[in-house]
Amino acid sequence: MKTRKVRFLLLAAVVLFSFAASAWAAKNVVIMISDGAGFNVWAAADMYEGRLGRQVYDQPGWVKLGCTTFPLTRARGGNLIEGQEPQLVYSPEKAWDAAPRSEKPGDFAGYYYLKSTATDSAASGTALATGRKTYNGAINWSNDDRPMRGQTIAEIAKRKGKSVGVITSVPWSHATPAALGGAHNWHRNHYVEIAKEMLDAGHLDVIMGAGHPDFDNDGAPLPEKEKRDYNFVGGEETWKSLKEGKMPWKLVESKADFEALTAGPTPDKVLGTARVAATLQEKRGSGRAAIDYKKTPDADPPDVPFTAGVPTLSTMTKAALNCLDDNPQGFFLAIEGGAVDWACHANQPRRMIEEQADFIRSVEAVVQWIESHGGWDETLLILTADHDCGLIWGPDSKTVAFDPIQDRGPGKLPAMVYHSGGHSNSLVPLLSRGPGSDRFAELVKGLDRRAANVWAFSGRYVDNTDVFKVMKSEVVEAGQ
Ligand SMILES: [Zn+2]
Repeated sequence: MKTRKVRFLLLAAVVLFSFAASAWAAKNVVIMISDGAGFNVWAAADMYEGRLGRQVYDQPGWVKLGCTTFPLTRARGGNLIEGQEPQLVYSPEKAWDAAPRSEKPGDFAGYYYLKSTATDSAASGTALATGRKTYNGAINWSNDDRPMRGQTIAEIAKRKGKSVGVITSVPWSHATPAALGGAHNWHRNHYVEIAKEMLDAGHLDVIMGAGHPDFDNDGAPLPEKEKRDYNFVGGEETWKSLKEGKMPWKLVESKADFEALTAGPTPDKVLGTARVAATLQEKRGSGRAAIDYKKTPDADPPDVPFTAGVPTLSTMTKAALNCLDDNPQGFFLAIEGGAVDWACHANQPRRMIEEQADFIRSVEAVVQWIESHGGWDETLLILTADHDCGLIWGPDSKTVAFDPIQDRGPGKLPAMVYHSGGHSNSLVPLLSRGPGSDRFAELVKGLDRRAANVWAFSGRYVDNTDVFKVMKSEVVEAGQ
């Protein structure tokens, strides 16, 4: 009898624990990554919109922290020691070092440190997707040369019965959507292999982005005889199969078809490939020019109207949510503002703010969806960046280190200067709301007092690997 009683109590405890876990865990997890957007990119767009400190993510209920993004090592095979290269680990002391290195304007020790220790989107995407640091260029691939099979948040979510989606404003096989979409490759540039894995592996239900082989950067159809680039869509054969409906994917291309997916019934597996080459809008005006985001012109190109036949990231967001929300087990969705980074590389402030604005509209769309679909008890939302890009500071920041960017009012570009055409190791924002968001407080790695002062938050920061930990604990507990 006693054994029975113990058994009963144990069973009751298990039931209660499972109930408590499922009651507190998230049904849905949404991560939104503004690629390349450090704190000053977010601030610049908020200022331009006249909403600094008043955006949807500044409302009560949001957790606001910093996040570190450094890689394990800067290049494959470059790590001669075991584990983390210590000089890459974010150090507030080094980051804010205002000592000049030479007579050259803007040559401060802090800027140099931040520029020379940065991650790329592949290594940081891997950290967000698996909780593990790796070398720059790796897509869910370890520094000891192994694929991290089954270990990505996309794969874990699928194992727990959830629907899984990944969407972006750049080609959908690019580094960030590849990493968050659970692909594995030793190098991010192997687009054909990555795209095929995303289509064939079975854990993705929704994929959306740019990279259409038949259109140029302005959304104009390529002449019949012109050579096409099929790499981003998995090669010519794969694309042909998709077009002919021979794969288990519903191919969606026109703006109207993306819009139609925002309401009503949806197909099981949706592959959205917008009718444009490199980016939804950021590269418009460059026609058939090769994708060259390393080019760094000083000024914005003259104003070019938005390309008409292409959906916005916020339209894709609404479409993806509507496609994924039929599953009673919930979903995992990763949304990337991918072209913010491309505008930062090119030092184009207008395009950068334009892209960040589309990202913010997408955040608003997600918040609206959450508030009309079970509220903040059911969905965990995380907003962050994979790294900073452009190292933006204020108008006098070539002579005064870390001179803050200046608000010039709504509709006006803030006064700011780019110090780089590449990435930086600066802290990025980490904003979160919903079940699990309070866990970030337990994972804090350090305090950056200067950051607290400049960007109006506590100055406490977590690491990008902690984002995975929080997402995973929500996804796993919800499935118990
Ligand atoms: Zn970049």
